[in-house]
Amino acid sequence: MTDLLTVENLEVRYGSAVAVQRVALVVPQRGTVGLLGANGAGKSTVLKAIAGLVPKSAGRVLLEGRDVSAQDARQLVRAGIVYVPEGREIVPNLSVDENLVLGGFHLDGPTRRRRRDMVLGIFTEIADRAGSPAWRLSGGEQQMLAIGRALMAGPRLLLLDEPSLGLAPLLVRRVFEKLAVVRGETGLAMILVEQNFRLTVRVADTVHFMRGGRMLGRRDAADLRHPAAMEEAIAAYLGAGEAVT
Ligand code: ATP
Repeated sequence: MTDLLTVENLEVRYGSAVAVQRVALVVPQRGTVGLLGANGAGKSTVLKAIAGLVPKSAGRVLLEGRDVSAQDARQLVRAGIVYVPEGREIVPNLSVDENLVLGGFHLDGPTRRRRRDMVLGIFTEIADRAGSPAWRLSGGEQQMLAIGRALMAGPRLLLLDEPSLGLAPLLVRRVFEKLAVVRGETGLAMILVEQNFRLTVRVADTVHFMRGGRMLGRRDAADLRHPAAMEEAIAAYLGAGEAVT
């Protein structure tokens, strides 16, 4: 089966500064790929470049073998690539429902209503708050809304930028339990950018490590679930000072 996403030789510059270079990765159909690295390693930039939110100065992005490198962010959403930003960026003064509608802006009414029912059926915590302004939701509920809004677009590939940021461990677990349900129901693939090592190796199939804008290595997540392997990977890829969370 053709891989869902292939990134080849990606380079992104901000002005004259090279943020990421020679990045390559593959997301199989229904796969979850983790991207780990310290602050400033270039993880968010990789996601944004795949989503068409920052320009690529070199490289290609293929969706099921089709070159989508030149498509803009809106076209890529329609093609099934949807980015969930770090910090969530939901619209606080709009209701939960209105935020969801924003995620399905390009859909016809019946499809939008069907997707909304599907999203609220999964994220039951926010279902009975549909009319409330989004700012009233807790951090975990806001993360669910942000993911729910992304699911409104019917993505084939969800790009999750540090979904655990600022959330208590229990809430992180709840968000990921919900994502597992979504994956089971929709066959969605994901790239998960994280600084949380344990979470990433638990959820992902493969893990890539980044430092200084480059890929350092790739490992099967299952091989990193034992404490000794975890320690070895942290020393090899993330540096001795990296906290294991
Ligand atoms: P974090 O976990 O802190 O989000 P990251 O691994 O996602 O880090 P990026 O946000 O991709 O890293 O940043 C990679 C590099 O690009 C950093 O040196 C950062 O300072 C720089 N950078 C990111 N966004 C911009 C921007 N809009 N303009 C200029 N430089 C930027």
